[in-house]
Amino acid sequence: MTTAVPAGQDLTDVLGRLPKVELHVHLEGSVRPGTLLRIARRHGLDLGRLDEAAVVELFRFRDFRHFTELYEQCCGALRDPADLELITEELADEAHRQNVRHLEVTFSPGTHRRGAGIPFDEQLDAVARGAEQARRRTGVTMRFVVDHVRGGPPEECQQVAEWAVAGAGRGVVALGLGGFEPRRPASLFGEAVRWAAARGVPFVPHAGEAVGPEGVWDCLPFRPPRIGHGIRSVEDPRLVAALRDRAVVLEVCPTSNLRTGVVSEPGAHPLRRLWDAGVRLTLNTDDPSMFHTDLLAEHRFAVEWHGFTVAELAAMTLIGVDAALLPATEREALRERVTTELAELGVTAAGLPA
Ligand SMILES: [Zn+2]
Repeated sequence: MTTAVPAGQDLTDVLGRLPKVELHVHLEGSVRPGTLLRIARRHGLDLGRLDEAAVVELFRFRDFRHFTELYEQCCGALRDPADLELITEELADEAHRQNVRHLEVTFSPGTHRRGAGIPFDEQLDAVARGAEQARRRTGVTMRFVVDHVRGGPPEECQQVAEWAVAGAGRGVVALGLGGFEPRRPASLFGEAVRWAAARGVPFVPHAGEAVGPEGVWDCLPFRPPRIGHGIRSVEDPRLVAALRDRAVVLEVCPTSNLRTGVVSEPGAHPLRRLWDAGVRLTLNTDDPSMFHTDLLAEHRFAVEWHGFTVAELAAMTLIGVDAALLPATEREALRERVTTELAELGVTAAGLPA
């Protein structure tokens, strides 16, 4: 039993109706199994010979190695801009179903450039088209983080930084850094990161996931407004204080952390400890199709395992609104909308870090 919602109200129903934002979700990790199958068949790929049940089974998370193989298969099946447009629209539709009002979506242009040979301009046009169609239909707004995958060729990071700068004003709001973290600290890519920052594109890296606090410390000189995951910061009280004092927002993805084994069991997740220490947090899905999650499930996790109240979840949503990389007027409009909707639901945000 939970005391998160007033007596007589159903938790799933209340959480479902809350307005939400999501700042950490990968386009390639959000492809629905059925969509992947249709795309693979259209392109005559081996994957297309499977039936839907087999593809669903393929999406069942086994271990990190299987996850990276599946990720590569998903990326490899996306052969042309129409595929990117389709999955962008579907991601927004799913967000709309969960009352998500704004999404910042990461995609990896280097992977699609190397794999299917799709020029960045065509990739960006495709996702922007998908986003615009979805916005007109659902009202969900979307922006993009283009990320360099750490395992890729190091010189590619400069290329991705150039794409990010070229895409600013066309929906790209940040340069990301993803992939396997060990032995690939952010500082290795510092030149490209600084190059983009000097041209107004902020850095939003993944860090403190597979690597401990040192991975997050390594990012701080680049002044990231947000860090993907960052949960292992909890191991270093000085780092926790630094994140709090600098108001760096952590994009926390609990189900992802459990599936990849970064966190051993639900009760051990540092979500509550970081929150109580005053770190600004948001809840996210990371790769919803591959981790069998959605934003509603992440909210349920926070309530059921770490005793978060609806008021605290609303505070997290407002942190997400304030951390959205939107022009000030759009961010204000989003805040107005979310605040109004929360008020209509009778929810007052509480527990917001000072
Ligand atoms: Zn991620």
